[in-house]
Amino acid sequence: MILRPLFPDQLTESLPSLCGLEPHRDIIVLSERGWSLSDRPHHPKKLIFLIAAQRHFAQLWREKGFTVVIQPWDAPEIAPDLGLFIAQLLSEEGACVEGIVLTQPSTAGCQKDVAEWGERFSCSVAVLQDDRFYCTQEQFDTWAQGRKSLRMEYFYRMMRTQENILIQEDGQPEGGAWNYDAQNRKLAKDCPPLNQPYKQVADVITQEVIAMLKGSLGYENFGSYEYFHYSVTRQGALEALEMFVGERLALFGDFQDVMRDDDPWLYHSHISLYINSGLLVARECVDKVLAAYYAGQAPLNATEGFIRQILGWREFVRGVYGYYQHCPQPMNTLEAHRPLPALFWGGPTKMNCLRNCIADTEKQAYAHHIQRLMVIGNFSLLAGLSPQEVDLWFLVVYADAFEWVQQPNVLGMSLFADGGIFASKPYAASGSYINKMSNYCQNCYYSVKEKEGDKACPFHSLYWDFIKREEGRFRNNPRMAMIYRTLDRLGPEKVALYQRQAQAFLTELEYGTPL
Ligand code: FAD
Ligand code: SF4
Repeated sequence: MILRPLFPDQLTESLPSLCGLEPHRDIIVLSERGWSLSDRPHHPKKLIFLIAAQRHFAQLWREKGFTVVIQPWDAPEIAPDLGLFIAQLLSEEGACVEGIVLTQPSTAGCQKDVAEWGERFSCSVAVLQDDRFYCTQEQFDTWAQGRKSLRMEYFYRMMRTQENILIQEDGQPEGGAWNYDAQNRKLAKDCPPLNQPYKQVADVITQEVIAMLKGSLGYENFGSYEYFHYSVTRQGALEALEMFVGERLALFGDFQDVMRDDDPWLYHSHISLYINSGLLVARECVDKVLAAYYAGQAPLNATEGFIRQILGWREFVRGVYGYYQHCPQPMNTLEAHRPLPALFWGGPTKMNCLRNCIADTEKQAYAHHIQRLMVIGNFSLLAGLSPQEVDLWFLVVYADAFEWVQQPNVLGMSLFADGGIFASKPYAASGSYINKMSNYCQNCYYSVKEKEGDKACPFHSLYWDFIKREEGRFRNNPRMAMIYRTLDRLGPEKVALYQRQAQAFLTELEYGTPL
């Protein structure tokens, strides 16, 4: 007998450790409680998705004639950890188990655990490379070696060339440019309305999971159960991908940075939870989008824009996560220690941008990239919130959040807590950016145009307070030279005023006053 344990993000039929299985020999092992699912307060919709997807995956293999053992969520007497569960199975099955075959888990903690399984269990343990990424960690480390800084753009160009994706015969990028960002900044007011995203009605298995979680989760699991509509099967995930390519891709590039208070979905794909859990594979998403481009159904700016997200950002982020494992922990270069304010858990706030982004998160366990980066992340950076608290928040509230992808995005891209491994400068912005890219400011208590007084947009003074506070670190950064020239032009009195306003705001925030 061979055990084939799966982590909750390994729901891919063609996973290396699921190849060449024999029904009378192999047992698939799944864990609904392990891998920190039961000991962190995840969003109910994230748990519904991951548990229901595992149950459907188990059903699929059982229909093929295989034995599938599940460590169930609602049996707390069973060890709450995949390793302990395996130990329990081994003690029950004893001598019959010849070995364990698994695919390398995605998180560093689990990688460390399984590396010890060989010694821990008295049978052979084979850990296979996860082949669902374009780039292996070894390749990334080789690319990163000796570089002063890691920049996604150079990594992305290497990957495009290696995979021969959107590369002309002369080796140059399709259309003559590596990216079309300049075309991809259309404004919220020009964004045409569109249909709802892909929605699947919860079937009996999913309904059971919802009922089970409603009975067992506490108030600390921030998020709504209502209208769960994500797919929990590969078939549904494929339909969601098809729908994106058919209905949204053509305008994906144009409106990828837009935020609107009447539409959380816009022209994004909403497939990250499917790729990250294994229901979709990155390659097939890229291939589908390329096929649409070559069939004349999507323009180059949208096609390249989407492919950069997957082949560039997603692969880069995974490499950076591996790289982080060799860095001192915990990461907190900017020495930010302010606790997370209540508004992150749905507490009242008069800031319409934050209220909307947190409300979307609470409802759907989803917010798109610019909401996460330029509103929630940006606020956390400027307000000096503790990176470790922000990191945990991002891990538990999004359905697509898995440590390897959320951590570099939070600690590196958003908070500069890694000291610049990920980004050459912090993604800090004032309310003007939010006003340009969204319609949030039109319905806000605060005025984005006002810089002083009770009605002034808090992002304005928080921004200049941050720039002044971090002057010693960033003044000589060439990419921030213009910002420091503007700071100088403001003059010491204005800067001191903005600093006082920011401090007053932050003090009230800490005391829990709705701001
Ligand atoms: P689209 O906008 O349609 O993009 C297409 C795909 O590209 C995504 O599905 C995703 O697979 C990939 N992608 C795009 N940007 C990134 C990125 N920066 N890193 C990795 N993949 C990317 N993404 C996660 O998958 N899980 C997370 O936990 C996560 N946490 C984030 C936290 C912060 C602070 C920030 C700024 C970004 C985070 N992202 C995370 C990246 C990005 O916000 C999401 O991938 C995206 O919003 C998912 O929505 P979508 O599928 O509609 O993406
Ligand atoms: Fe956000 Fe400021 Fe705009 Fe209000 S005015 S929505 S706080 S950016």
